[in-house]
Amino acid sequence: MCGIIWYIGSKEVVPILLNGLKKLEYRGYDSAGIAIVIDGRIAISRNQGKIKDLEEKISGKKLLSSIGIGHTRWATHGKPSEENAHPHIDCNNNIVIVHNGIIENYLELKKQLIKEGHIFRSETDTEVLVHLIEKFYKGKNLIKAVQQMIKKIKGAYALGVMSSQEPDKLIAVKNRSPLVIGEGKNEFFIASDMPAILNYTRKVIYLDDNEMAILTREKLSICKSHTGKSLKKKTEEIAWDPIQAEKGGFRHFMLKEICEQPRVVEDTFLSCGYGW
Ligand code: GLU
Repeated sequence: MCGIIWYIGSKEVVPILLNGLKKLEYRGYDSAGIAIVIDGRIAISRNQGKIKDLEEKISGKKLLSSIGIGHTRWATHGKPSEENAHPHIDCNNNIVIVHNGIIENYLELKKQLIKEGHIFRSETDTEVLVHLIEKFYKGKNLIKAVQQMIKKIKGAYALGVMSSQEPDKLIAVKNRSPLVIGEGKNEFFIASDMPAILNYTRKVIYLDDNEMAILTREKLSICKSHTGKSLKKKTEEIAWDPIQAEKGGFRHFMLKEICEQPRVVEDTFLSCGYGW
């Protein structure tokens, strides 16, 4: 499971996404991609290989936007390739998603969605999520559509969803994959790991399992992902410097890696199809 970063605010989003992804490079990855909303449309750029290659690919393009999502992928379903790199988009190019984790029941969902006419463009488990949201999306009901999608899936996920129809909103959902929200002044960040956001803010809110965050420029709301019941969460002030943050508060990388072993073993079993 690899890295994600989202941003919504007033700053230029592309450099924030690329810098954030670079801070997550230490986790390893096989491909990278970003999506932004620009002139009411979703623009995606992704590639197999390094973030600096992605950076080169988009250099010189006019990508002025202040909302977007980025992802580094460590393939679990489908080979490392540009088509399988995240973000993934729905049939009508309106809704886009990034995902860390594994969707255990994706095959049955995929078969059903294909029967219903959805066109798949990747081999990933992730792509079913965006088609499910598309199926439930009735225009301006992104939150509800994401909640309906969540009820259909099993597995581990940290998800970021964005729609060109509601260009001032980001939705994040977490279950068994880490997500942290960073709070700035009229801006929010979300990342799978602290180093991606610490250069911008020290105020963070941790999402817990089965929680959903809805972010606009002005407001953050958090609720239970299955029921929509709203929640009050504590904002914490991080004292670590960026180096300490990369070590997750541990004194040494080795200690961090030792403590991460249970999660790594769980992820490995999940990617082999031995989910529980
Ligand atoms: N299962 C997804 C895929 O294979 C996400 C992998 C990840 O966490 O990077 O694309």
